[in-house]
Amino acid sequence: MDELRVRFAPSPTGFLHIGGARTALFNYLFARHNKGKLILRIEDTDKERSTKESVDAIINGLTWLGLHWDEGPFYQSQRTELYKQHVQQLLDEGKAYRCYCTPEELELKRTKALAEKRKPIYDRTCRERTDHPAGKPYVIRFKSPMYGTTMVKDMVKGNILFNNEELEDFVILRSDSSPTYNFVVVVDDVDMHVTHIIRGDDHLNNTPKQIFLYNAFNYPIPQFAHIPLIHGTDKARLSKRHGATSVEAYRDEGYLPEALDNYLVRLGWSFGDKEVFTMQEMIDNFSFDNISKSAAIFNPEKLLWLNATYIREKSAEQLLPLLEPFITAKEWSYSNQDSNLLRLIDETKLRSRTLVELCDMMGYYFINGSIVNRYDPNAANKFLISENIPILQNAALLTGTMSPFNQQNIETGIKSYVEQTGLKLGNFAQPIRMAITGGTVSPGLFEIMEILGKDRVLQRIENAIDYIEKNKKNG
Ligand code: GLU
Repeated sequence: MDELRVRFAPSPTGFLHIGGARTALFNYLFARHNKGKLILRIEDTDKERSTKESVDAIINGLTWLGLHWDEGPFYQSQRTELYKQHVQQLLDEGKAYRCYCTPEELELKRTKALAEKRKPIYDRTCRERTDHPAGKPYVIRFKSPMYGTTMVKDMVKGNILFNNEELEDFVILRSDSSPTYNFVVVVDDVDMHVTHIIRGDDHLNNTPKQIFLYNAFNYPIPQFAHIPLIHGTDKARLSKRHGATSVEAYRDEGYLPEALDNYLVRLGWSFGDKEVFTMQEMIDNFSFDNISKSAAIFNPEKLLWLNATYIREKSAEQLLPLLEPFITAKEWSYSNQDSNLLRLIDETKLRSRTLVELCDMMGYYFINGSIVNRYDPNAANKFLISENIPILQNAALLTGTMSPFNQQNIETGIKSYVEQTGLKLGNFAQPIRMAITGGTVSPGLFEIMEILGKDRVLQRIENAIDYIEKNKKNG
């Protein structure tokens, strides 16, 4: 078998979380780097916990991240016939057996073993049994080797030796005829000709049992890579308490898929001290030589930093369609041809770490009427005060006379006014910025004035003066 084949095999029992996405990414990069194939296999045998919403979340999440698979999605729930045939094959070859021990009997054996300080593994009562008591429920167990050792050769962890005596004759088919996880994984990996298995190291202890099964099916043992789990900054396993853990939540919070991919690849993998990678660079450089053996720490600040980097590098024309869902969610409208909006995006993107921030920071542009109810209250207290009314009135007068109303004229006009009056530009500019944007942080004032246009600037200065006067009366 010369083609390299890997699979991403999520259980659809929740959203696509950060850890799953990283496993998918490593599989994707490994497949692309080696010109192999990536298979998507949905492990939905747990009927109670598997949901359609979760399958959709996984598929949407992978698609959004740009992690395209070559084959599938395959659904284990649609492959029961194949599993049945393989159970039968093992029975026929004497590699598996029916076990009629009842749950109560098993529990007794367990308690006894524990009391005698033995490992509570199944004592193989039914291993050589040949009768078939009619109507009595049974499970099917695999005949595991009773002696010797099993070596897991892992591209991340190295060689790990398991003692076969500690592994039991595990169940492959439950009494309700449903096959178990360890069994279906191997049947599928064999059927799909998987050559490399890249997954979380929480599956490491399953691996020797799976190796028994590959041997039973005379299938060459795949290469394993068990990647360390992801922890929060407090070293505990990553969970909701560390913030958003689903890929869709990051999408909705305004992260770019490139940034998340780039962040995820660095969770456990490194390439010198390089931090920013295009997808092609990740594919070109990915290998298991540079995977860390210890748990990766999820650092939301670093993800934000990367996201800001990617936002900055995109043009306004690229960003506008990405902003669309966030803008429409606010019920704001815009035109794709609006060159002022594109200019504003180009200026504002430099200060935004997410698309949500970028959208929010441009709110004053999308609003046509008064923005008084959007004023940043602290900044309003500081700058929209009676002493500044003359500044605002003069700004309105200057604005009225400028023609054409463009950045250059505005700059010349305001600067010469400030020089004549001996005011500091900053003292003059902040109340105006406050009046026209509702806050004190924005791109350059002269440019913003041009972008907003003369009418809106005049209207907003007037609104700010009214606001101050109303406050004076009330206060
Ligand atoms: N379905 C398993 C999970 O979601 C993965 C199984 C495997 O990769 O072998 O954890």
